[in-house]
Amino acid sequence: MASSTYPSYLRACDWPRTVIKTCAPVSLQGEQTCDAVIIGAGFTGISIARRLYDLNPNLNICIVEAETIGAGSSGRNSGFVLEHALGSVAPEKAAQIHKLYQDAHQDMMQFSGLDSLQKESHIFKAAATARGEKSLKGLASFLQKSGQAFEYLDASDLQQITGSSYYRSGLNMPHNRLVNPVDLITSLALQLPEAVSLYENSPVLSLEKFSNFWKVQTPDGSLKAPKVFLANNAFVKELGFKKAQSITIFTYAGITPVLNDNERAQTSSMGQWGLLPAHRLGTTFRTTDDGRLLVRGMYGYEKEGDAKNEDILLKSLEKRFPDMESARQLEKWWGGTTSLTANGAPIWGEIKAGLFCSSGCNGVGIVKGWLLGAALADQSFDKNKIPVSKLFGTPTWMPPEPFRKLGFLVASTIEKQMAGEER
Ligand SMILES: Cc1cc2nc3c(=O)[nH]c(=O)nc-3n(C[C@H](O)[C@H](O)[C@H](O)COP(=O)(O)OP(=O)(O)OC[C@H]3O[C@@H](n4cnc5c(N)ncnc54)[C@H](O)[C@@H]3O)c2cc1C
Repeated sequence: MASSTYPSYLRACDWPRTVIKTCAPVSLQGEQTCDAVIIGAGFTGISIARRLYDLNPNLNICIVEAETIGAGSSGRNSGFVLEHALGSVAPEKAAQIHKLYQDAHQDMMQFSGLDSLQKESHIFKAAATARGEKSLKGLASFLQKSGQAFEYLDASDLQQITGSSYYRSGLNMPHNRLVNPVDLITSLALQLPEAVSLYENSPVLSLEKFSNFWKVQTPDGSLKAPKVFLANNAFVKELGFKKAQSITIFTYAGITPVLNDNERAQTSSMGQWGLLPAHRLGTTFRTTDDGRLLVRGMYGYEKEGDAKNEDILLKSLEKRFPDMESARQLEKWWGGTTSLTANGAPIWGEIKAGLFCSSGCNGVGIVKGWLLGAALADQSFDKNKIPVSKLFGTPTWMPPEPFRKLGFLVASTIEKQMAGEER
C-alpha cells in the first residue's frame, strides 16, 4: 500500500453510521478544466472547499477523493474533537493555538449541522503508572501556563466515570467533544454548496505542472486548474512531494459489541467519556453513542498490519475491564493512516507555484485539519490572518531509507518501553 498514490485499506471502517449520504458517488470522467482542485475529502479538504467558496462563490471548485466520504482517516478515527493544544510548542503559542482551535471547533460543528445533537462528555488524560502521573503533572503545569482549563481527577473519580480501576489519576479537559467521525465528515460534506463538485472513487494517480496550470490525473479523467490543494495527508509524499518531511504511520481502532445493561451501567453511569493516555504510545478508550467501548492503539510504519494488532487491542481492553464479557471481543477493528513529521509541525503553505499543501496531522487532525484547511484557502487568496509557521513551526528534515525506518524503529522501541502499562 505504501507505494500506491492513494489508500486501499485491508479492512473497512465500521463506525455505525446514522448520517447517510443518499446520492450515489460520482467519479471523475473525461477531461475538465476548473479554477481549483482539492485532492482529498477529509476534514482538511472539505474545509478548504468551504472557505474557497466563501472567498469567491463564482469559483469552479472540484474535490477528488480516492475513496468515498468517510472511508478515509477522517471517518476512521476515534472521534476526539480536541480544542486543547497539547503539542510540543511553548505555552504562549499553545494559548494562541487553543483560541484558534476553540473557534475552529465551533465553526466546524455549526457548519456540520450536528451541533445541537452533541452531548457533553468527559474527555480526560489518564495515567496508569508513576511515570504517567509525572507526565500529567508536567501537562497540568503547561495547561496552567497556557490558560487552558482542566480539573484534576483521582483514581476514584476515574473509576466512577469509566468503571475501571486501572488508572491512578487524570486531568479532565472541558469543552472537548466526542463525535462519531463518520457522521461528522459525512455531514460536513453534505453541507458543501452545490457549486463545489465532489468526485469520489477518483484516486489521483499523478500531478503534473504545465506552464500555467496543473493537471490532475485520475483513472477515468483529468482536471486542469491554476490552483491545486494537497489535502491527502499521508499520501502527499506518494504523489512525489515533501518526501523528506513525513512518514506514514498506521494506527488501529476496534469496537466491542454493544454492552449489556449491567456493563453499560458500570461504564457509563456518568455519561459518555473519552480517555487519552498519559503517554503518546499509550492506548485510547471511549464509549460510543450506541453503547460500545472503542479502543485505539498501536503504531505501524508505512504498512498496514495484520491480526496481531487485534490481539493487542483486546489485551488492552481486558486489562482495564477484566470482568466484562463484552470487552473480550471486538466486533470490528480497522487501521487508518496518519502523517507524522519529525518535530510535529504541519506541512503547510504554497509548496510550488499554484500548489498548496496542508498535511502532517501528527495523529490529531480533526480540529487542526479544519483550521489549517481554511487558513490554506485564505493563503491562496493572500488573505491569511494566521501566522501558521510561526505558531505551529515548520517540519524538519528526515533521513532517507533505510535510516528513516531504522530511526523510527529505535525511537518507537524506546517509547514503547516508556509507555509501559499505559499501553
Ligand atoms: C485510528 C485513528 C484514530 C484517530 N483518532 C483521532 C482523534 O480522536 N482525534 C483527532 O483529532 N484525530 C484523530 N486521528 C487522526 C485524524 O484522523 C487525522 O488527523 C485526520 O483525519 C486528518 O484529516 P485530513 O483531512 O487532513 O486527512 P485524511 O483524513 O487522511 O483525509 C485525506 C483524504 O485524502 C484521500 N486521498 C489520499 N490519497 C489520495 C489520492 N491520491 N487521490 C485522491 N484522494 C486521496 C484519502 O482517501 C482521505 O479521504 C486518528 C487517526 C486514526 C487512523
